[in-house]
Amino acid sequence: MRTNKISDTVSVIHITPLDSNIYIINNTLLIDTTTGHHATLIRKALDTLDIAPDDITCIINTHTHIDHIGGNHLFKNAKIMMHESAKAALNEPTLKNTFSKYFNTTLKTHKIHIPLNDRDTIRAKGTKLEIIHTPGHSPDSISIYMPEQKYLFTGDAIPVRPDKKLSAYINNRETPKETLQKLHNLEIDMILPGHGKTINNPQQIKELLNL
Ligand SMILES: [Zn+2]
Repeated sequence: MRTNKISDTVSVIHITPLDSNIYIINNTLLIDTTTGHHATLIRKALDTLDIAPDDITCIINTHTHIDHIGGNHLFKNAKIMMHESAKAALNEPTLKNTFSKYFNTTLKTHKIHIPLNDRDTIRAKGTKLEIIHTPGHSPDSISIYMPEQKYLFTGDAIPVRPDKKLSAYINNRETPKETLQKLHNLEIDMILPGHGKTINNPQQIKELLNL
């Protein structure tokens, strides 16, 4: 487990390579919440950042795979936001749409409080976030763009190859052209993926986006 302050606005918690990263925006909004297998480690990590789980008022899940949504229940004050199409996977979880079997866990009840659509805008204590529907890895995958900082949170939409073990989950599909084209219109200084390290090397960003 380790935590890292990326900027004044964004921090990240890494639990294990198989768990999604948890990104924290302005100490109030989370992007993804891991498998939820390591609740004690998550609480410890938040503590080092001086955040209590109850301070979190909002969670955006990039998609419905269990390694990204499994810890949602640890934040009882949080409103859950996912792409509108995620309802299908949550209503009828299968191996394919939640990956729950791979992670040896069953999906706890997950509801969406606020369904999201392409180009929706959210504010987290003044920081603007734009939702971009980026299907491919899963039909409900979204990326989240912070225009002021030029950060792009990609979940698993872009294959970043952080770890061999993960390649089966992340790199199993070509990213569709339409998804990449949507991202080509953005100015991006940093990619913040669902697993592994942030990427701020311009050449690497170009390669990942097929530019
Ligand atoms: Zn995934």
